[in-house]
Amino acid sequence: MLSKSHPRYESLVLRDKIVKASKAGYLADSAMIAHGRGEAFDYLLGEKTTLPAKRAMYVTVAIMLLSKNPVISVNGNTVALAIDEIIEFAREIDAKIEINLFYRTDDRVNKIAKLFYDRDYPEILGTNNDEMMHINEIKNPRASASKNGIYSADTVLVPLEDGDRAEILSRSGKNTITIDLNPLSRTSKMSDVSIVDNLVRAIPFMTKIARDLKLQDEELLREIIEEFDNDINLKESLELFKIKEEVK
Ligand code: ATP
Repeated sequence: MLSKSHPRYESLVLRDKIVKASKAGYLADSAMIAHGRGEAFDYLLGEKTTLPAKRAMYVTVAIMLLSKNPVISVNGNTVALAIDEIIEFAREIDAKIEINLFYRTDDRVNKIAKLFYDRDYPEILGTNNDEMMHINEIKNPRASASKNGIYSADTVLVPLEDGDRAEILSRSGKNTITIDLNPLSRTSKMSDVSIVDNLVRAIPFMTKIARDLKLQDEELLREIIEEFDNDINLKESLELFKIKEEVK
């Protein structure tokens, strides 16, 4: 049993979720490595949501509220760490959710789909029964997408994406928004909006933002979007990775 007083308690809880998901058989072998890389960046950030991340989140919610077909893409790690929060956010902003696995197997997809069905979320896309297409007709597994989901989406939010896929999405002309703790990843650099934060903090925070922004005029949402510069914001995110403690 983990003690809540342990200084690394929250981080250990997340690790435990990843280990359990791995044992449940819906994570790729490299999922733990990806999680570990995220953990290291989060450690350097002080495991706190930064101001540039918050700014990017306001812009994200504004874009998603103004979009016709916003879709949230989920992979195994995202599901393991924040499935309930993702469903809550999707319902708040009226977005769809699509399963999108880097190492896709029918078995992993079925296991993840079941987690959504068990939570009374039958509308999950990207399942093995779904009609899949290829973005921009690129015949590459990285470009596959549900016909009613990412394929026809105007905005795609991707917590944790690999750089190749992020590139395909951003070249497709869709608003591509990513959550990635690494501001130097190809994914962060290729996105229209890059949220440099842990997805476990970002998703619930955006649900709160959505409750507020939904009550505002569209004009204000457009202003929030127009005032934002992702390159500047990403640079600010990078500058916050400073090691403040000194070694004795
Ligand atoms: P890219 O291809 O975009 O350059 P990569 O190859 O470095 O990315 P991957 O191994 O595909 O990265 O995915 C891991 C990425 O996900 C890392 O950048 C890591 O920082 C990030 N990451 C891991 N866990 C989380 C999390 N909980 N929240 C946000 N980001 C995370």
